[in-house]
Amino acid sequence: MNTSISALSRDPAQPRHDWTLEEVEALFELPFTELVFRAAEIHRRWFDPTELQLSQLLSVKTGGCPENCGYCSQSQHFKTATQASKLMDPEAVIAAAADAKAGGAQRFCLGAAWRDLKDRDLPKVAAMISGVKAMGLETCATLGMLTSSQAKALKAAGLDFYNHNLDTGPDYYDQVVTTRTYQDRLDTLAAVREAGMSTCCGGIVGMGETRRDRAGLLRQLATLPSHPESLPINDLMPIEGTPLGTSIPVDGLEFVRMIAVARLVCPKSVVRIAAGREHMSRELQALCFLAGANSIFVGARLLTTNNPGRNADDVLLADLKMRPVATRADPQDPSTLQTAVVSLPSSESVMVNGGVR
Ligand code: SF4
Repeated sequence: MNTSISALSRDPAQPRHDWTLEEVEALFELPFTELVFRAAEIHRRWFDPTELQLSQLLSVKTGGCPENCGYCSQSQHFKTATQASKLMDPEAVIAAAADAKAGGAQRFCLGAAWRDLKDRDLPKVAAMISGVKAMGLETCATLGMLTSSQAKALKAAGLDFYNHNLDTGPDYYDQVVTTRTYQDRLDTLAAVREAGMSTCCGGIVGMGETRRDRAGLLRQLATLPSHPESLPINDLMPIEGTPLGTSIPVDGLEFVRMIAVARLVCPKSVVRIAAGREHMSRELQALCFLAGANSIFVGARLLTTNNPGRNADDVLLADLKMRPVATRADPQDPSTLQTAVVSLPSSESVMVNGGVR
């Protein structure tokens, strides 16, 4: 079969791993309404578009990181307002996870500002993971680079997902970070996959990159041996004191395009609007959901920046008549399917400014 006929006969909802940069760029160039419509169609093939996956993030070790990621408040290369702190005790982390669960979070993500995980920290981190897992939450961690044996140890402790973002397209990467390579990141993702964990991997827009760089990031994700199960797209939160602290924000419609193209090239991935919702309107978030986003971070804080918080999100979900997705505590184990219990939107009434609507 010649290539063009083969391409035409493909079901666009089926995952592909042979995307070219030109194909991804062409998606970005579609008329906005056409792009969003196509993404919404694919979204419906694999997901209930009224459902959202809800994650909550906790910084378990803050600041003092030897890496120089240009967007990050926690790098020791930059002078920011972030206060460094030591690795938390597992008991405190487990208590925070219990609060997050009570607030409606389905997955609890542990973040540590490390270049790489040290074996000496593994027992403490493993205790955090097993404690969080035991309460029926999905578990995720972002701890820097991992070796294969560390990835296996984290999996054995009960880790479901490992977050390791590629940040941006390969051609722009060295404008953002120079203390580790793109290949370093790909190697950690390979170790995570080989250990049998799901990957959480995406990037950031608003760092001065071009649309071609954004297409390059999505093409990279879409040509991995398996697409990330979670695909977070962050809208840069500029941090004073970092090299990207005065970056010009990306236009909201361009952010929606990024979400829509992510949905099209990784049709079965759970696409998250990650950092940046704090400065997005409700209407922009709704447009992202229409374009295929189906996950958010909940809770008032991300690692070191603000997030809309539970009340605002409860109201948003209720107004959109969306609800938390039914989850599995163990993504590999169908017997652990559970319906998340959250305050909304089981009832359509919500207290707003003392009134009910
Ligand atoms: S590795 Fe993580 S914590 Fe360290 S500077 Fe980069 S983004 Fe920040």
